[in-house]
Formats: sequence, C-alpha cells, structure tokens
Amino acid sequence: MHDDCLFCKISAGRTDTEFLFETETLVVFRDINPAARIHLLIVPKKHIRSINDLADDDRSILADLIFAAKPMAGEMGVAGSGYRLFFNVERGGGQVIFHLHMHLVAR
Ligand code: 5GP
Ligand code: ZN
Repeated sequence: MHDDCLFCKISAGRTDTEFLFETETLVVFRDINPAARIHLLIVPKKHIRSINDLADDDRSILADLIFAAKPMAGEMGVAGSGYRLFFNVERGGGQVIFHLHMHLVAR
C-alpha cells in the first residue's frame, strides 16, 4: 500500500469507488472518464508501477487480471461482440496512473 497512490487507495476500499468485482488479488471498477460505452479498469491490489516492473512472482497476478476480464466481458454483454484489453505503459504509452491496471473497453 502506497499512501500517495490513487489505485492503492481505491483497491483497498478507502474511497467510495464501487467495485463491480473483487477477489483477494484484484478489483474491477468503471473508469471515471470512459473512452467508450463500457470502460472498466482491472486493478491488482498489489502496487506494481507498470508492466516494466513486473517480477517473476507476479505471473499469477497477471493471469488473474485476464481471468477476471473474461467473466466481466460476459457480464457486460460484450463477450460475443468483442472488446479490447490493454495496458498503457509509462508516459509515452499514455500511462497516467502509475499503479498497474488493465483496461477493458467496448462499444
Ligand atoms: P492510464 O492512462 O494510466 O492507463 O489510465 C488511467 C485511467 O484511470 C484513466 O482512463 C482515467 O480516466 C482513470 N481514472 C483516473 N482517476 C480515476 C478515479 O479516481 N476513479 C476512476 N474510477 N478512474 C480514474
Ligand atoms: Zn498503488
């Protein structure tokens, strides 16, 4: 838990952000500024700055993100029609929150 990190605060339940899904290792919530009709953020509870900072023991966390995306896409009704999953990495890649998160975006 990094006190100055927004996604640490959100994932620890210290804000009023509503979770659509939560497990021991991650939370899912809606992006505050959606880029499309459906825009979810899938966020590990562990503070990892970006994809560049993944360690070997983070493999299971990354798998957890994907395996959370799959049912969320179903719940959002876009599994069949399609959606995008992506990470922005560092400033040049569009990352503005330096706590790892995966975007799930669909029209
Ligand atoms: P990044 O560009 O770092 O990959 O994405 C960060 C995302 O977090 C942005 O799409 C932005 O709209 C979203 N975001 C920033 N602050 C908040 C917040 O306080 N609550 C929620 N739900 N989303 C946020
Ligand atoms: Zn953090």
